[in-house]
Amino acid sequence: MPAPSLDSIVSLCKRRGFIFPGSDIYGGLANTWDYGPLGVELKNRVKQHWWNTFVHRRTDIVGLDSAILMNPKVWEASGHVETFSDPLVEDVKTNKRYRADHLLEEQGIKASNLDADAMWKLIQENKIKSPDNNELTPPKEFNLMFKTHQGVVEETSAMVYLRPETAQGIFVNFANILQTMRPRLPFGVAQIGKAFRNEITPGNFTFRTREFEQMEIEYFVKPDGAKDAFDAWQKDVWNWFTVLGIDKKNLRVREHDPDELSHYSAGTIDIEYKFPWGWGELFGLANRTDYDLKQHEKFSGEKLLYTDPHDPKDKFTPYVIEPSFGCDRSVLTFLIEAYTEEELDNGDTRIVMKFDKHLSPVDIAVLPLSKKEPLLEKANEVRDLLMNETNLVIDFDVTGSIGKRYRRQDEIGTPLAITVDFGTIGDDKEQGEEDTVTIRDRDTLVQERIHISELREKIAEYWKK
Ligand code: ATP
Repeated sequence: MPAPSLDSIVSLCKRRGFIFPGSDIYGGLANTWDYGPLGVELKNRVKQHWWNTFVHRRTDIVGLDSAILMNPKVWEASGHVETFSDPLVEDVKTNKRYRADHLLEEQGIKASNLDADAMWKLIQENKIKSPDNNELTPPKEFNLMFKTHQGVVEETSAMVYLRPETAQGIFVNFANILQTMRPRLPFGVAQIGKAFRNEITPGNFTFRTREFEQMEIEYFVKPDGAKDAFDAWQKDVWNWFTVLGIDKKNLRVREHDPDELSHYSAGTIDIEYKFPWGWGELFGLANRTDYDLKQHEKFSGEKLLYTDPHDPKDKFTPYVIEPSFGCDRSVLTFLIEAYTEEELDNGDTRIVMKFDKHLSPVDIAVLPLSKKEPLLEKANEVRDLLMNETNLVIDFDVTGSIGKRYRRQDEIGTPLAITVDFGTIGDDKEQGEEDTVTIRDRDTLVQERIHISELREKIAEYWKK
């Protein structure tokens, strides 16, 4: 099947309640998106799976949930006030804004990490115009941090930033975590939370937005253990994506050139995904060295040192390896990867979201063939049985023809559908024996007739596979 277009993903997301345009009834707010009833389930499952894999199933990582608003000195110390900016150019006629580095790169001119003057020189030399073919203004550094005011009076002293990354919340809690949890190196701190960046060119659906969620780990190591930890994380992260169904051929590793590295990094790789518009960053892994802890020590005056438990005189600043996942970008990737259009034997096409069964927003649909009693009551009993005796998410759908209901469940990626029919209530031997139901597999389309008493075991077996 050819890769799906972004339009087909956006339209399915809206049609089926995964993702809606933000502030829709007011005509929207550019590049904001709201996760609908199914989107929030999918996103929560991505977060739960991540937390389970990297926090609960490991003995070396603990969690944290730090505040979005932090003392502004944090961002001075981290270098964000000074350097967290992108080169902004404007079309002199339309006033539309662009990133100078992106415009240069579109023309095959390497521009990462050049300063504004160097970019301006390249723009002039290569006679680069805006996409509307107009002249551009010289680039100026545009800081991506959102500012707001804390308290009732709008004065500079109360100015605060919305955090542009979750990482700094971890660094400022380093001493608290050492004192309370007494971890031994190597150890990590994981956090999931919102981050905000006033991106110059957001777009491509939820790929680049100004408000997004990150899933980050700061993994503290002895300085001489940094390389091994970096390599191990690269493998673990790659596995997380592939275990959850991302095809290896749609993933690749891209190493940053030395001139492209962030101010804190001694080495960075991205894991890129083949999005419908081309390869793009899905995940970043950086060796942040001891930069952040040392900066916070300098700016706060607090010691941020690790003491070797075998030698209390040996106090040092650990290095940190940072696996940084975009939660929304991961969700988008799982949506794109799951989207499948299939031709059926009868010539019809069906759209089916082939999510990994741990990610599907709904686990099982219970579908009564008719709304008539006592069939409906029997179907309710089956639903209650599954709700009370499993942890699964159960959907109950009585509206429309059974064919339409199967199509809806395929489009939302429900792995199993259980149909309760006249056989189940003992009224139609041809459909099946009394107290039997049909269980349909989303991917193979195989329908099996089983007794209600076997349901639990059958379902447990399916989720074990
Ligand atoms: P990009 O080069 O795409 O701007 P970045 O290198 O600035 O990304 P990082 O600072 O490494 O991104 O952030 C870590 C992860 O957070 C990224 O891999 C991505 O998944 C996610 N992310 C970053 N910016 C955004 C955004 N504006 N919208 C959605 N997700 C984002």
